Amino acid sequence: MDAALRARADKVIPGGMYGHLNARILPAGYPQFFARADGCRLWDVDGREYLDFMCSWGPIIAGHKHPVIDEAARKQAEQGDCMNGPTARLVELSERLVGMLPHADWAMFQKNGSDATTAALMIARAGTGKRKILLAKGAYHGAVPWCTPSVAGVTAEDRAHLIYFKFNDIESLEAAAREAGDDLAAVLVSAFRHDLGVPQELPHPDFARAARALCDRQGAALVIDEVRAGMRLSLQGSWEPLGVRPDICAWSKAIANGHSLAAVTGNDAFRKAAQQIYITGSFWMGGVAMAAAIATLDVLENSGAIQHFEKMGQRLRDGLQRQADKHGVKISQTGPVQLPLVLFEDDADYSRGARFTAEALKHGVYLHHRHNMFLSLAHTAQDIDHALQVTDHAFAMVADVAAH
Ligand code: PMP
Repeated sequence: MDAALRARADKVIPGGMYGHLNARILPAGYPQFFARADGCRLWDVDGREYLDFMCSWGPIIAGHKHPVIDEAARKQAEQGDCMNGPTARLVELSERLVGMLPHADWAMFQKNGSDATTAALMIARAGTGKRKILLAKGAYHGAVPWCTPSVAGVTAEDRAHLIYFKFNDIESLEAAAREAGDDLAAVLVSAFRHDLGVPQELPHPDFARAARALCDRQGAALVIDEVRAGMRLSLQGSWEPLGVRPDICAWSKAIANGHSLAAVTGNDAFRKAAQQIYITGSFWMGGVAMAAAIATLDVLENSGAIQHFEKMGQRLRDGLQRQADKHGVKISQTGPVQLPLVLFEDDADYSRGARFTAEALKHGVYLHHRHNMFLSLAHTAQDIDHALQVTDHAFAMVADVAAH
């Protein structure tokens, strides 16, 4: 079935598939097409079952088909979704986010993470009247011309006014700010460093404070891209535990547990700017995703979600490290435990990682060999232990290949 669908797709879809969900950029054996999902499990179109550690690349935070969230979405769908204006859910969800996030005095909604990061920068520019944006080299902020990782279809002008610094490197941030001079609109920074294929880094508190101080000094906006990390590190915003509050945040992925929704939240200093810019979309005010988001935030708040993610993530990280040590395989596991990243040493082309994940996949565990993974509320200790049984075997295979 998967093979037949790929053959048909090749005829009517450029490249057969595109973007981050293209299975051709995964090791051989990964399915392209899925039939259904439940909790932390997925079934492909050929009926094979997987224990899922990608969570749809982030959106699934409470588990696929969460009964409370999907019931809220269903109830809204019965009333209507896309109408001539928003439903009351718009106001309720805005109140909910402003109540939860200490930095936020207002919220606006879109559909995808790229919508939110783009809107956040427009608001920063409108509010400051300045043009330059500082951002970390290698950071992913979406797939529109100013930030897509490929240069195809993009002009240099699309990326004019971007100046790069190195994440967690105060000196490089200061140097970028000097280059921007009195034209600095914003510092845009990911909640933590999660660039593809390299070790993850949590923000150093001194770096976070330096970014805040720099923005205050130069009258710029501190913008945090929470699209990937949002609601997995802290329900108050990822930098709140560091004591650093952004001016503007971009959210998407997990905020509605798989229903399409993005948000920008901001403080009163940028309220007028947020009102001045013109952004909209045909589907942005749909009530279903907003109802799902309200229910998702309720579920996360009522279930000790962050502690659960940390506990399950630590169990997985400890188990993987024990196994790697036992098999004499050198790995690195970096960043927050709830967004696991496993990289193999001396693996510049990721072939060892690919061998490891392909083997795990054969035994029903869906991992990624160079992108961070995601945990959800649906992952239990039993699921983690089941995955570890499989990874023990996969490590043995990687060790065996290395020995020959
Ligand atoms: N920012 C970050 C940090 C992301 O991880 C992503 C998506 N991977 C985006 C922005 C863009 O989100 P979307 O794909 O929904 O446009």
